[in-house]
Amino acid sequence: MTLPIVTLGLRRPLNIEVTGVTQTFWSGLAEGRFLLARCSHCSRLSFPPRRICPDCHQLDFTWIEASGRATLYSLTRIHNSPPRYNLLSPARVAIIDLEEGIRLLTRLLPADQAPVMGGPCQLVITQHPDGMHYAARPVESG
Ligand SMILES: [Zn+2]
Repeated sequence: MTLPIVTLGLRRPLNIEVTGVTQTFWSGLAEGRFLLARCSHCSRLSFPPRRICPDCHQLDFTWIEASGRATLYSLTRIHNSPPRYNLLSPARVAIIDLEEGIRLLTRLLPADQAPVMGGPCQLVITQHPDGMHYAARPVESG
């Protein structure tokens, strides 16, 4: 299942360094898929991808595709962000919980639906002049 792709005119929010550990994740984004690393030994999911499982310290991972379904855990508005984050000001930054059990920090894009704490949101892939990234946007419950 591929996630919606939203085109943004801004550069990505951070300078991205692709490593051997993160290459699969970034390749997945380019295909519209948000991938989570699953430890082959204890099945723990990790994000961001790591070289070593934080639970059992093994080195073998497989990849699973996130559904994109999430809930909004927290939200803030940043009115004056450092230039390196390439955010339009003001920018909404959220902490979301993926249904797979991963909590992550991301930009919250404008949408028809107003954000509601604990309410549903959707992970989206964002396309920037310098590559792909990700964000979330609130969606209708139901
Ligand atoms: Zn493990």
